Amino acid sequence: MRESTPRSSVLTRIYQSIEWFGATVFAGSDRRARDHGWQVVETGRLNRLYRDPRFAQFVRCAWCEGAGCDSCAGTGRVVRGSVRSGR
Ligand SMILES: [Zn+2]
Repeated sequence: MRESTPRSSVLTRIYQSIEWFGATVFAGSDRRARDHGWQVVETGRLNRLYRDPRFAQFVRCAWCEGAGCDSCAGTGRVVRGSVRSGR
């Protein structure tokens, strides 16, 4: 089907409407997330993934394998680079 056919024009308008709707609905959430330094990834026209990049600094505690211990204050996670070898 060519781009200029009426059917593709209708589909294009539907897709554009969905994109507009998604951008409108998520505009506030996207702005707040970016204001906080979060990553915003559009995983679909009506889907978003919000992620705080600070979570990338954490790694599983080598002492307890994530179960929680005194070395990680019971969280099972420690800051990357601050880990002593547990093994
Ligand atoms: Zn631990």
